[in-house]
Amino acid sequence: MVLIVQKYGGTSVGTVERIEAVAEKVVAVRKQGHDVVVVVSAMSGETNRLIKLAKDIDDSPDPRELDAIMSTGEQVTIGLLCIALIKRGCPARSYTGAQVAILTDSAFNKARILEINDLPMRRDLNEGKVIVVAGFQGVDKAGNITTLGRGGSDTTAVALAAALKADECQIYTDVDGVYTTDPRVEPKARRLDKISFEEMLEMASLGSKVLQIRSVEFASKYNVPLRVLSSFEEGTGTLIAPEDETMEQALISGIAFSRDEAKLTVLGVPDKPGIAYKILEPISEANVEVDMIIQNIGGDGKSTDFTFTVHRNDFKKALLILQDTAQVLGAKEVRGDESIAKISLVGVGMRSHAGIASKMFGALAQEGINLLMISTSEIKISVVVDEKYLELGVRVLHNAFELDKNN
Ligand code: ADP
Ligand code: ASP
Ligand code: MG
Repeated sequence: MVLIVQKYGGTSVGTVERIEAVAEKVVAVRKQGHDVVVVVSAMSGETNRLIKLAKDIDDSPDPRELDAIMSTGEQVTIGLLCIALIKRGCPARSYTGAQVAILTDSAFNKARILEINDLPMRRDLNEGKVIVVAGFQGVDKAGNITTLGRGGSDTTAVALAAALKADECQIYTDVDGVYTTDPRVEPKARRLDKISFEEMLEMASLGSKVLQIRSVEFASKYNVPLRVLSSFEEGTGTLIAPEDETMEQALISGIAFSRDEAKLTVLGVPDKPGIAYKILEPISEANVEVDMIIQNIGGDGKSTDFTFTVHRNDFKKALLILQDTAQVLGAKEVRGDESIAKISLVGVGMRSHAGIASKMFGALAQEGINLLMISTSEIKISVVVDEKYLELGVRVLHNAFELDKNN
């Protein structure tokens, strides 16, 4: 018996008509004799609407209560899809995260899955039922509702596929696969037939929202065959799988970008051992993640400038902390910039090639795009630019590296 886990994102379940279309697709898979577990997101726009309601009352809502609110979006969709399935004579049963139970830690708004009880689902599958699970949510040991971070339904689907040892995990969305970059920014972007876990992990962590990064981590760790497909057109989509010889060994597999960035600089701090620690320790104490870091040597040899980036949501919090630290350290000035973006070139082929960075910088320079920060690793090069250059930068690089061609 083949077991398939399918996940339908917000746009795919955005209206009652679309939910009925999903039901048709599920019924068709059942008719082929396969077992199906379906994970659904909230109807499109719903999670944002729920967050806004909470923020209309308090700008930083209590995290436990925010999870209680946000998790309701998916609960509506599971019920609607089950009704549509039952109407079609297909036995179905909905489960919230807690009903499964998808046990998570207690980090509200960004909880991690610890364990999944697969027994009730197996019982239902044995009785010929389709199981419809609410994505994005779980329950902690104390019984609190938790959510898994934005885009978390992808992770629910992969985690269920791992727990149930499914034959494939299919992520149905509003694009027909993973592209060389977001096709909404570069219409010439090319769909990839296959991409390695490693490259997808890098793309997701650098901002490609087509898959939540934790879903790729899970799939890689438990070797879950993962496929991204369109819910609106037929096709084979993109397979995300371990790296192998048959994979296109492209130099660059894609361009990821992120608008969720902000930059903080402290000028004129004394150039002494322990300075980086003193600046960053209070930031990490406050649970703010730091991404890129640059420390310059000041002209006078006694003082230095220190710059780092954080998620834009954490900008205000980080700025307040840094202003305090600057005072304690006797620094000259603190500066912040919330209108920056990060563009990254990703490719395992980079490992064995020199000259990619200079080609990248050259292409951006030709368009007059100033690089505010640079960071590199074995398989990626990231640059921070002014947000207004984001789209242009992505297209310039896509063109410079000829990503529209199968190279
Ligand atoms: P869902 O609601 O189905 O989870 P998302 O909006 O989270 O859908 O993810 C799909 C979107 O990801 C696409 O509409 C596309 O704009 C965006 N995207 C970003 N980078 C890529 C990429 N490299 N390939 C395909 N889509 C991408
Ligand atoms: N509904 C949640 C969100 O909008 C989870 C998801 O769609 O994956 O982030
Ligand atoms: Mg998503």
